[in-house]
Amino acid sequence: MIAASQGNAPPDIENAPRLPFAPSSLGKILFAYRWRGFAGSGSAGPGPESPTAADLGGPNHMKIHEYQAKEILARYGVAVPRGEMANTLEEATAVARKLFAEGASGVVVKAQIHAGGRGKGGGVKMARTREDAELYARNILGMKLITHQTGPQGQKVRRLLIEETAAIDRELYLGIVLDRVSGRLVFMASQAGGMEIEEVAAKTPEAIFKETIDPAVGFGAWQARKLAFALGLKPAQITPAVGFLQSLYKAFIETDASLVEINPFITTKDDKLFALDAKITFDDNALFRHPEIKALRDTAEEDPLEVEASKYALNYIKLDGSIACMVNGAGLAMATMDIIQYAGGSPANFLDVGGGATPEQIEHAFEILLSDSNVKAIFINIFGGILRVDRLATGVVAAARKLKIRVPIVLRLEGTNVEEGRRILAESRLNFQVGETMKDAAELVVRAAASVGA
Ligand code: ADP
Ligand code: MG
Repeated sequence: MIAASQGNAPPDIENAPRLPFAPSSLGKILFAYRWRGFAGSGSAGPGPESPTAADLGGPNHMKIHEYQAKEILARYGVAVPRGEMANTLEEATAVARKLFAEGASGVVVKAQIHAGGRGKGGGVKMARTREDAELYARNILGMKLITHQTGPQGQKVRRLLIEETAAIDRELYLGIVLDRVSGRLVFMASQAGGMEIEEVAAKTPEAIFKETIDPAVGFGAWQARKLAFALGLKPAQITPAVGFLQSLYKAFIETDASLVEINPFITTKDDKLFALDAKITFDDNALFRHPEIKALRDTAEEDPLEVEASKYALNYIKLDGSIACMVNGAGLAMATMDIIQYAGGSPANFLDVGGGATPEQIEHAFEILLSDSNVKAIFINIFGGILRVDRLATGVVAAARKLKIRVPIVLRLEGTNVEEGRRILAESRLNFQVGETMKDAAELVVRAAASVGA
């Protein structure tokens, strides 16, 4: 049998291709789908792979800034430090002056970007004086803040939150997230606050206490008490903590959030409780009923091409390679990236045009792919199920003509009306190459990209 398998030798493990994209992108892709229900069994519950992991966000979970999250939570009675957002150095100085005048013993200058880990990256600084506050604001505004959640390119800081310094006694963790295994919300609490919860979940999962919430009953006061005790709070802090946790839950439900995370949730020396940091993401599918939340979106924090794609309901994630992919279905898109890599190329993006791509969507998809200057060739890999291949071919021909596309296009088509689709492409007299199989097409497109690059 060994001899028989020679002709079809398994991949050489030593020289096996590397991941066709940075692991951070893989996270983005998986989260975009898993938490929406596309990725099959969806084994992840709260834990290291839960959306508390850095990347939750992207196409289906709108992110907001910390200062916005705190404004929302304050409306639900969650205690947050006094503070205000500042867009400029002048505004920052004015807020600091005001806080000191009101009796703050110090202020914290906090970079507002859609990523956590800011403290470690130098984006959170404590100032004892107005002069220090101004200095920190000057340094942080405009800086490229690099954290474990921004990727190596970092994120430019355009806004600050200036808030009063809290007299921290203990830093704890609170989070509410949907557990897809049980199909219920889970309220998480941990004494290991102020650090990366993904790390806690991976190394000491027993340090995270969880209460599963019955949707018919809601989050019970008894559950809040259990968590408060698990946090090791002092007797005087228990009742206020129960109220604090219940307010968080109410905020989660009423805003149609997909994640609420308070890290750190702190106690002070005089037994007060505060949300010192706040992260909320929202379920995009429910945003239509929260126009005031929808208005909080800050597209400056998002990849411009991904913003453009989201306007046309395309699932697009930019990657670093040279071969653009246009695919229908997330699984096929992943397989396409793999096979490009296997053929020796590297994908420029992940793009799922969805089940029923319209000619307009295809045109916009091309526009987005082509505005990436790294793109040397385009690979269209479509399985015509819901989307008929002839319709796709018509859309591709129209878009190629309209946009005067010059980069080589390789297609692999299969499914309903495939013959008709091939005929439309052939009759267009445009320069399309069609691969018989996925493997053929991948090899064709890698060759095409290489010849452009040469
Ligand atoms: P990130 O999670 O992005 O690093 P945080 O808002 O959690 O940002 O801030 C990091 C750390 O800075 C916190 O764990 C806390 O120790 C400290 N910190 C943040 N805000 C305040 C504040 N208002 N008063 C005192 N310390 C603060
Ligand atoms: Mg934090």
